[in-house]
Amino acid sequence: MKGIPLFLEKLAPLATPKVPVQEKRPPPAAGVAASYDYLVIGGGSGGLASARRAAELGARAAVVESHKLGGTCVNVGCVPKKMQFHFLELITEDRASTNLKLKTRMVMWNTAVHSEFMHDHVDYGFQSCESKFNWRVIKEKRDAYVSRLNTIYQNNLTKSHIEIIHGHAAFTCDPEPTVEVNGNKYTAPHILIATGGVPSRPQESQIPGACLGITSDGFFQLEELPGRSVIVGAGYIAVEIAGILSALGSKTSLMIRHDKVLRNFDSIISSNCTEELENSGIEVLKYSQVKEVKKTSSGLEVCMITSVPGRKPTLTTIPDVDCLLWAIGRDPNSSGLNLNKVGIQTDDKGHIIVDEFQNTSIKGIYAVGDVCGKALLTPVAIAAGRKLAHRLFECKEDSKLDYDNIPTVVFSHPPIGTVGLTEDEAIYKYGKENVKTYSTTFTPMYHAVTKRKTKCVMKMVCATAEEKVWGKCSKLKNVFRLAGMGVFWWGGETK
Ligand SMILES: Cc1cc2nc3c(=O)[nH]c(=O)nc-3n(C[C@H](O)[C@H](O)[C@H](O)COP(=O)(O)OP(=O)(O)OC[C@H]3O[C@@H](n4cnc5c(N)ncnc54)[C@H](O)[C@@H]3O)c2cc1C
Repeated sequence: MKGIPLFLEKLAPLATPKVPVQEKRPPPAAGVAASYDYLVIGGGSGGLASARRAAELGARAAVVESHKLGGTCVNVGCVPKKMQFHFLELITEDRASTNLKLKTRMVMWNTAVHSEFMHDHVDYGFQSCESKFNWRVIKEKRDAYVSRLNTIYQNNLTKSHIEIIHGHAAFTCDPEPTVEVNGNKYTAPHILIATGGVPSRPQESQIPGACLGITSDGFFQLEELPGRSVIVGAGYIAVEIAGILSALGSKTSLMIRHDKVLRNFDSIISSNCTEELENSGIEVLKYSQVKEVKKTSSGLEVCMITSVPGRKPTLTTIPDVDCLLWAIGRDPNSSGLNLNKVGIQTDDKGHIIVDEFQNTSIKGIYAVGDVCGKALLTPVAIAAGRKLAHRLFECKEDSKLDYDNIPTVVFSHPPIGTVGLTEDEAIYKYGKENVKTYSTTFTPMYHAVTKRKTKCVMKMVCATAEEKVWGKCSKLKNVFRLAGMGVFWWGGETK
């Protein structure tokens, strides 16, 4: 799973309403299900985008949300994460007298970038760059910003005449597909499931004491910067959170089962990112897994087993851990929906099975976003939701999202951007003899005068005699430039 720039959303402005929105109807008689054209379960990225697009196309829509509007991305995902990252950049650029106001709009990844720049201040000639970091300040500002976003989402729905139903939705046994929320029933000829996912955590039976750890959701609730952190996981969320904590001053270890992070990315990215994490001071605990967690008077005691291939496994204990964070994947949020009552098919992990048009196994019920388990990214959920709305309410029968060549950004330090096939994937698809790669590694000019160095790596993957480009990836100082490249490239041009 990978991160993606949110600005992609801006590339798809909402269409002008084609049909005037309809007025709110009186509530139905007791016991009768309230009926809409479109009933959306889940007010996150995919659900909101789909409901709003449907309303613009004239549908009477309602959104059921059990928690806060905006879903994972806004409340416990992309938005608060990036805010932290940028906060680091802010402190630095403020000192360099650049436009602070402009930058304050973006906030945890930002925070971390600032801290990195501060380390470079002296090398750039600034004399007094000592600055104490206050976690509470950024947390309060970040929470306030997220809260403003929640209100904006609510207002947008109201403006679009979309009904907001607060509560947990679950399917009933009624003959027509119907959901129940707080004892009331709701139905529609078209029902969308956009319930997202939740962070996975190990069972207590697998790892005694696992419940003493938090997940990415808990990360955004931390009231203080932990002095000692252990992050478990090798995916992009683990890499990003480890980077933020370490850059802000927490002594951080990243525990991974193999020898590299981001193993589903191109090898150049995976190797370089692992190296950069280590260079930045993060202890990468390779071939390691948590065996047991205990609470002591000075924090948590994390017992791990390290099994380097060819060597005897060793047991080690990490004492005095303030924050143990599981970033070991995400589970679909489908178990509480009573899917069995309507017969919607899921895979063995609970992901809802959909076809290329987001149809589930039951006519009139669709699913988009993380609950389907494919390309778990905000713009993907948004785009799939909008495409579906066009198919259902604008009769665009072939409207569907193309899941190929989705550009991706990871907010590591430095950030990563990638689009298309990895070298291994290209070889698998086209054969080794037909694949040619071009790569480069250099130290960005920014580091010409700094003691701290980071490497920039780039790779282009070409296939066939015409050298068609099928993949590009990079670790750059300015990842947005690369992301832009990805946005306007859909694979298949020649080199
Ligand atoms: C730490 C973190 C960082 C991330 N960073 C990025 C990033 O940088 N870029 C990116 O593109 N993606 C990122 N993501 C992924 C992104 O957040 C998700 O892909 C996106 O939110 C999925 O949207 P969705 O609509 O499928 O689900 P969600 O946004 O999760 O929305 C689902 C909603 O459904 C509600 N719900 C669930 N069950 C019910 C029910 N039964 N009844 C009523 N409501 C219900 C939930 O409360 C939730 O609000 C990140 C995720 C995490 C966890």
